[in-house]
Amino acid sequence: MAATTRLISRLTLVTGGGSGIGRAVCQRLASEGASVVVADISEGSASDTLRSLPHDVRGQEHMSAVVDVSSKESVENLLTSIQCRYFQPASVCVNAAGITQDDFLLRMKEEDFDRVLQVNLKGTFLVTQSFAKALAACGAPKGSIVTLGSIVGKVGNIGQINYASSKSGVEGLTRTAAKELSRFGIRCNCVLPGFILTPMTAKVPEKVISKMTAMVPMGRMGEPAEVADVCAFLASDDSCYITGASIEVTGGLFIG
Ligand code: NAD
Repeated sequence: MAATTRLISRLTLVTGGGSGIGRAVCQRLASEGASVVVADISEGSASDTLRSLPHDVRGQEHMSAVVDVSSKESVENLLTSIQCRYFQPASVCVNAAGITQDDFLLRMKEEDFDRVLQVNLKGTFLVTQSFAKALAACGAPKGSIVTLGSIVGKVGNIGQINYASSKSGVEGLTRTAAKELSRFGIRCNCVLPGFILTPMTAKVPEKVISKMTAMVPMGRMGEPAEVADVCAFLASDDSCYITGASIEVTGGLFIG
């Protein structure tokens, strides 16, 4: 766990906060003093994460909320409920909500392609847009948006035509948002995990996992906390001159 207090008095929003990487991000941000809004489509998972968060700093106040990031109305309701509860918008947003619906290109159903794009890419767009609007409108001096891409968006992956497309899109979205939002003091960066041990990868057949792990120079899958470390760095002022960047957290998978 972090030993710093660099996020004290920061209000942070984490989508997909109910599981895996999003949960680890919530725990890491809270351990650095931030107040955390845990947002997820699963109410029970978001509440479980909320219960796991530390309250070590005075004034630290967390909440959980249900959101479907692929719905504009749901995202707007979330932003309104944050404003009502804290009387200010969040100044950090980590977009960790994401899904997979794997199949080969020649078999992929149109609805499975659409659903993955809707959650992973459109969801990131809707949350980023609403978050940035709220922050710019209140004249806050700074903000940080972190998006979750994937190494798969860079190199492709058999059976993930929809997922790889969505994650390439997230990188393009992040770079464009970085260019447009710099004048509001808002930075926007993308984290590209490799193979991380979460419920998402628990669905992958053991055979595929051992093949993939054998390709990782560091010889193992990553932990959600190792991705959360990088998200917390990007959320904090320690990365204050970094925007539009993509940072790989892969144990060296696909170097070069
Ligand atoms: P996970 O399945 O453990 O968690 C994803 C969370 O998103 C879940 O709590 C789920 O309920 C939530 N969610 C799904 N659809 C949603 C929606 N429409 N609205 C709101 N919340 C929704 O997955 P994870 O492995 O922790 O992945 C987190 C992010 O990291 C995802 O964007 C994923 O694509 C990305 N990523 C993961 C890996 C990996 O190896 N695990 C690798 C690269 C990128």
